Amino acid sequence: MTGQRIRIHGIVQGVGFRPTVWRLARDEKIVGEVWNDAEGVEIHAWGSAVSLERFAKRLRVEPPPLAHIEEITVTPLDAAQTVPVDFQIVPSRAGEVHTDIAADAATCPECLAEIFNPENRRYRYPFTNCTHCGPRFSIIDAMPYDRASTSMAGFALCPSCEAEYRNPADRRFHAQATCCPECGPKLWLEGGASRHVEHDVIAQAAQLIGEGNIVAIKGIGGFHLVCDATNDEAVQQLRARKRRPHKPFALMARDMAMVREYVKLSEEGAAALQSREAPIVLLEQTPNSLPPLLAPKLNTLGFMLPYTPLHHLLLAQLQRPLVMTSANRCGELLITDNGEARARLSEIADYFVMHDREIVNCLDDSVVRDSNGRPRVMRRARGYTPTPLRLPLGHGNEKNILAMGAEMKGSFCLVKKGVAITSQYMGDLKGATTYRHYQESIERYCKLYDFVPDVIAIDSHPNYLSSQWGRVIAAKRDIPVVEVQHHHAHIAAVMAEHGLADDGTQVLGVALDGLGYGDDGTLWGGEFLLADYHGYERLAAFEPVAMPGGNQAIVEPWRNTFAHLDHFIGWDHVGENYGDLELVDYLGGKPLSTLRGMIEKGLNSPRTSSAGRLFDAVAAALGICREGSSYDGQAAIELEALASQAMEVCSEGYGYTVKVGRVGWQPLWTELLADLRREEEPAVIAARFHHGVAESVCKTVMELCAQSGISNVVLSGGVWQNRVLLELCSRRMRQQGLAVLMPERIPLNDGGIALGQGAIVR
Ligand code: ZN
Ligand code: ZN
Ligand code: FE
Repeated sequence: MTGQRIRIHGIVQGVGFRPTVWRLARDEKIVGEVWNDAEGVEIHAWGSAVSLERFAKRLRVEPPPLAHIEEITVTPLDAAQTVPVDFQIVPSRAGEVHTDIAADAATCPECLAEIFNPENRRYRYPFTNCTHCGPRFSIIDAMPYDRASTSMAGFALCPSCEAEYRNPADRRFHAQATCCPECGPKLWLEGGASRHVEHDVIAQAAQLIGEGNIVAIKGIGGFHLVCDATNDEAVQQLRARKRRPHKPFALMARDMAMVREYVKLSEEGAAALQSREAPIVLLEQTPNSLPPLLAPKLNTLGFMLPYTPLHHLLLAQLQRPLVMTSANRCGELLITDNGEARARLSEIADYFVMHDREIVNCLDDSVVRDSNGRPRVMRRARGYTPTPLRLPLGHGNEKNILAMGAEMKGSFCLVKKGVAITSQYMGDLKGATTYRHYQESIERYCKLYDFVPDVIAIDSHPNYLSSQWGRVIAAKRDIPVVEVQHHHAHIAAVMAEHGLADDGTQVLGVALDGLGYGDDGTLWGGEFLLADYHGYERLAAFEPVAMPGGNQAIVEPWRNTFAHLDHFIGWDHVGENYGDLELVDYLGGKPLSTLRGMIEKGLNSPRTSSAGRLFDAVAAALGICREGSSYDGQAAIELEALASQAMEVCSEGYGYTVKVGRVGWQPLWTELLADLRREEEPAVIAARFHHGVAESVCKTVMELCAQSGISNVVLSGGVWQNRVLLELCSRRMRQQGLAVLMPERIPLNDGGIALGQGAIVR
């Protein structure tokens, strides 16, 4: 008999880790004990050398589903210690908090079987969960994770639940959120003529939805607005009431078979849908009978599968897909509180399905897009947050870094002892409620993780609210602030995610983006940067073009069309030679001489190398979102959808120029105008544009890689959410023998900035 002290770090609490240890120990004839403390789990184990080895191996291979092991260290125990007679789980010991919190997880198969089994005491109980599934981060208020630190604190366990909770052989042993109809949260329905119902709530909600009503349903991370997705009128009603004319609605389908009725499903897409993170997965539509209004002008639909017992019970009753969109008003924060739901959603929802379990951490549904055979997280929230990421070798362990992120897709990141915890997506910080939530969340995370920042990392954009708030925190605590260039952060985030060591290895980063603050005071967004964690060199960029009217040019894409035509061809030349085109006629109706005056004098017309503005300019040239868009990225998203109709029939791209590190679009615009005159199909024009941009990017990358001897390319920035562009470029670069790294678990867009900042600042 030898004795070992086994220490396990990672997400190992509140996920059924100790019972698994207990079971494996008994299997392997090991005696000793296991307990939780602030660092994770510790085991003292005695057994033969062979069984100890098998035990350690099985701990790695067979951890419970929600566990995430960061590290296992084994040291010998003092031989003089008394060997216990059996294996036991002993009470937790306190100390400084180090352990991580699990993310919320979709209902597990065992719980699902229980809620559909009339013999089971949890039959049709919408809050059923166990150590393998259910709410986690959304209900936690303090560490360490136990019931008293969650919004389940007020629900005392009944004797039956208590017995399960105490039994190490039970799936609910120490399941902190466990409950049953006797002792757990309750569901009720309100609305209509002062209606308040507590019986058959789900059946009644199903009926109301089936009749065309809009029902607000409280979920895991916030409320959803729900209606029948097959009902044109209901969908239209929801769009009108939510004042959301175009942005696609997320859908929930009962099962995979139902999803397959509407979209093409790859293996990866199917796996993402069925994962315990249960995100919204954007999938390519097949011809279907759903209202086009669900995702106007797009060729994709975003589906998710039921992830709570309530969803499963509701969908089982309805047998058709439902719209499940976040319950908020445009630009505002997702609603999590019953009172707030009544106050703010009364004009949108006809009825409310409420419950009395408080949502502590507000979490949107996560969004994933399957591209290049990999699910890529576009919006990281429920199910993924707050899973930690260990920064690669070479990152210091000494300093606590608080990285503030960007602005449009607010999120922040804590780095402690070389481990990064990135917050959930919170939306545009320019919304007052969102900004307040962001500030409060920073405080909440600091408290949860016992985190005191030593340094603050901010975007170098002086006007970002995140940067401003970072300076406020730094001043209050009298700690340093470090500015990080936006696109450097985009690239570093991907390097960190892929575990590139901080050993001086450089990559060629291609950051195609909306707008980011450049180090020369202009706005960047079409960048080729030779980078490592410590710095970067701007080797090339898209040619800068003015944004006449500044912010107004982001709002009204036609301004970019005009600026591009004027810059690359000259407006006079366009007027003289293409006066017959509808586009030229349309632009002619705008105050062009004022705009030209502004551009010439440099008045409120910042120049930008942004790829996002190029996509806007071309989209508007084709009549897409000329006067404005109703959601972020709409013009580019519709342009991509249009292009994908013709990608197969068209392989010829528009031309471009590459001169002294500047990629220019003069040939592109000349050929595009010629195509317009020929009355070429808009889909073909869009496809040729995508091919042209892809060719220009790949050619530039190839040349820069050859010159600098680099073979690692990183693609990052919001424009890469464009699947057509991403697949064209990554395929071609790989064919040329380059290693192409793209984000998977963190967003390509500005949601990934905080992690990048955390990986750069020391
Ligand atoms: Zn379960
Ligand atoms: Zn109970
Ligand atoms: Fe960006």
